[in-house]
Amino acid sequence: MTKPQPPVVSSFPCTECSAGIMQPRLLTYFTWLNEELITVPSFPAWVCDVCGRREYDERSISWLDMLLDPNAGEPTRKKKIAPRTRPTARPSRPAPES
Ligand SMILES: [Zn+2]
Repeated sequence: MTKPQPPVVSSFPCTECSAGIMQPRLLTYFTWLNEELITVPSFPAWVCDVCGRREYDERSISWLDMLLDPNAGEPTRKKKIAPRTRPTARPSRPAPES
């Protein structure tokens, strides 16, 4: 069995049963945001092949928390609004000096 493994996601022994191997998987991640259930499909996670323990990717979770937390990482909420005063597109001719 020689399967090429991607170097980025490497499986590691399970911390729960220490007998199984945590395999990289893509799961649907569920989390609650106030009263709203958020589902994130294809979320990177590891699943033990013996006891079935799930561990979600820590960096992805912290990234997700940052996205979901309205108070974090977004100092100004009006930043994404496109400026309404844009320079009028005029043909750039040299103005005749009178
Ligand atoms: Zn396990």
